[in-house]
Amino acid sequence: MASEAPALYPDLNARLQAVRAGIVDACERASREVDDITLIVVTKFHPASLVEALSTLGVRDVGENRHQEAQTKAEELARLDLNWHFIGQLQTKKARQAARYSSAIHSIDRERLVDALADPESERQIDAFVQINLTDDPGRGGVAPAGIESLAEKVLETPSLRLRGVMSVAPLEEPAAAAFERLAGYSERVRALAPEASAISAGMTHDYAEAIAAGATHLRIGSAITGNRPEHR
Ligand SMILES: *Cc1c(COP(=O)(O)O)cnc(C)c1O
Repeated sequence: MASEAPALYPDLNARLQAVRAGIVDACERASREVDDITLIVVTKFHPASLVEALSTLGVRDVGENRHQEAQTKAEELARLDLNWHFIGQLQTKKARQAARYSSAIHSIDRERLVDALADPESERQIDAFVQINLTDDPGRGGVAPAGIESLAEKVLETPSLRLRGVMSVAPLEEPAAAAFERLAGYSERVRALAPEASAISAGMTHDYAEAIAAGATHLRIGSAITGNRPEHR
């Protein structure tokens, strides 16, 4: 039986194709290969039916930022071939549960979270990104730059995690390009410890071209593809 999901979202394919074209464009300008970029479509606050529609359009990587919501959707859509990327603040007590459905966690921001994610019995490795705070405000998500090495080492010592690289959200109060340049420098520091941990998760709807120019490998793009998010409840 054909899925009815695309019919529910008549503009979705056009928006997805527009973003894909934008990625190709930004890669050309940066002299980078499109194949080195993973597009994660951020589906937070949207219903499972939208994720299903995306899957029908060939999307394999989706991003969510709240555990309860992500878990519910991942269970409902378990029959689909999707990689669930957890990109939001993760409570220590929810870590093990999030690890069950997530193929990647982009928001590793403290050593206690790594301890909570460690699962000696797991035969599967979860891709781990160390989230870095690009502002001086400790209230924002991410580890302060001074703590990058010790957090990365902690992930490297944890067999159920595979350190992939760094993640960040560009601060609103400065040009994204400048922030992503700093992130590229932090990525080098992580690669000095683990050369294979070369991924950079950065770039959202309004700054993905700048992120690509600065070396991003994993884009997390929501509203440009999904349309505006439903009211946050
Ligand atoms: C919501 C969110 C995104 C996507 O944001 P858009 O501006 O809608 O593209 C990316 N990363 C994180 C961490 C988010 O919470």
